[in-house]
Amino acid sequence: MREHNDLNPEVIRSGSDVFKIFLPEEKILNRVAEIGEEISTEYKGKFPILIGVLNGSFMFLADLMKNISIKCEMDFIKLSSYGDEKISSGKVKLIKELNADIEDRHVIIVEDIVDSGLSIKYMRELIESMKPASLKIASLLLKPNSLKYDVKIDYIGFEIPDAFVVGYGLDYAQKYRNLRSIYALSE
Ligand code: 5GP
Repeated sequence: MREHNDLNPEVIRSGSDVFKIFLPEEKILNRVAEIGEEISTEYKGKFPILIGVLNGSFMFLADLMKNISIKCEMDFIKLSSYGDEKISSGKVKLIKELNADIEDRHVIIVEDIVDSGLSIKYMRELIESMKPASLKIASLLLKPNSLKYDVKIDYIGFEIPDAFVVGYGLDYAQKYRNLRSIYALSE
């Protein structure tokens, strides 16, 4: 693999904010591969459709699919985001609808991070109303201490403390999505 030191810094500084490396690329990719293998085994013969929640999940979804060895499909859906803030507004709205018809399909929602659980609760209810044959949720990250809603996450990459994180698809004011590792904001 080609080395890009600028995409794998140890620390990122943005004004007074300092983000320190938290999950290095290799650790992320190893865990994503494990989840891909698990899905390949569990869905053998089932032709699942993965639904990525934009924008944050695009990198996780891509790497996950590269590790799914059975026939599968994908689509994207988009919810309103936090805007440029680091905290949730508590409201969720659909910005981009699904294109695929998922009735009677085996659906796996693919999220970047579950924080309060509000977005994933909304997604689950929305997808369930479309009558899939089955529904599971994969999230790369989960902040168990922030959870305010009772949501079951079937595949969890990493449980993390309540820090604000960026990189590997996750942004701060739309920046840092391109970084290959995940960084946590230092208090
Ligand atoms: P929830 O609805 O569970 O509170 O928040 C989920 C969404 O909030 C995620 O899909 C993500 O867009 C955003 N989010 C929550 N925590 C973080 C974080 O630490 N970093 C970033 N970049 N986004 C976050």
